[in-house]
Amino acid sequence: MQAGTLFTVSAPSGAGKTSLVKALVDSDSQVTVSVSHTTRPMRPGEQNGVNYHFVERESFVDMLGRDAFLEHAQVFDNFYGTSKEWVEETLAGGRDVILEIDWQGAAQVRRLLPDTVGIFILPPSQETLRERLTGRGQDDPAVIERRMSQAIDEMSHYVEADYLVINDDFQVALNELRAVVTAERQRLQRQQERHSGLLEALLRHR
Ligand code: GDP
Ligand code: ADP
Ligand code: 5GP
Repeated sequence: MQAGTLFTVSAPSGAGKTSLVKALVDSDSQVTVSVSHTTRPMRPGEQNGVNYHFVERESFVDMLGRDAFLEHAQVFDNFYGTSKEWVEETLAGGRDVILEIDWQGAAQVRRLLPDTVGIFILPPSQETLRERLTGRGQDDPAVIERRMSQAIDEMSHYVEADYLVINDDFQVALNELRAVVTAERQRLQRQQERHSGLLEALLRHR
């Protein structure tokens, strides 16, 4: 029985999902974010094991063969995958887990674990998205152009999510994201599992 709630957060590159999820996780000890494995080169400022587990293509393929991924996908020219063992153990320990994954990964997870809550983050405009990708200063112009064109394809998948957050004002978007996580925790079925003893005691005639 899964004790924590599993969330997927998807968004086009540059929409702000990493910043929003980091702010959420930093302010809520009940929720934690999964660190994906990727074959993408490390960006300046990134740390192995913190932003991603950076691995060679060969060891990624080896993990695939061992069925080590809950889901995986190819985004741009790189492979990304979520560790099955880590997610299962963390949920079993009663913590909520956020997967910051693309729409292909979110669809795989939803098929596997239908209880998963899907959240989509969109930018307030295409212009803003381009500015954020440029402002982050971590990708060269050719990469940014490719990411912009793929962003439009990615955004079309927002309809597959359960919740939609528009990241215009950061604080507003963060509060909205927090509200989704809090509301999902109070769902009747989850509360019944969490508080079975209390509920039984409350309904007992003396
Ligand atoms: P960013 O979106 O610009 O921050 O770029 P990233 O390199 O962090 O992420 C690239 C893409 O890979 C995004 O669409 C993520 O949602 C996706 N992604 C990251 N981790 C995973 C994962 O573990 N599984 C899957 N399926 N997608 C992932
Ligand atoms: P993603 O993980 O979706 O690619 P990031 O979290 O890296 O996006 O955000 C992309 C850039 O936009 C970062 O430089 C971040 O600081 C900035 N950013 C995120 N949200 C906002 C916002 N609401 N207003 C202004 N800038 C933002
Ligand atoms: P970036 O290379 O900019 O860090 O990420 C590119 C895209 O890959 C983002 O949209 C991100 O959400 C997605 N991504 C990162 N990790 C994973 C993962 O483990 N699985 C999947 N499916 N997508 C991922």
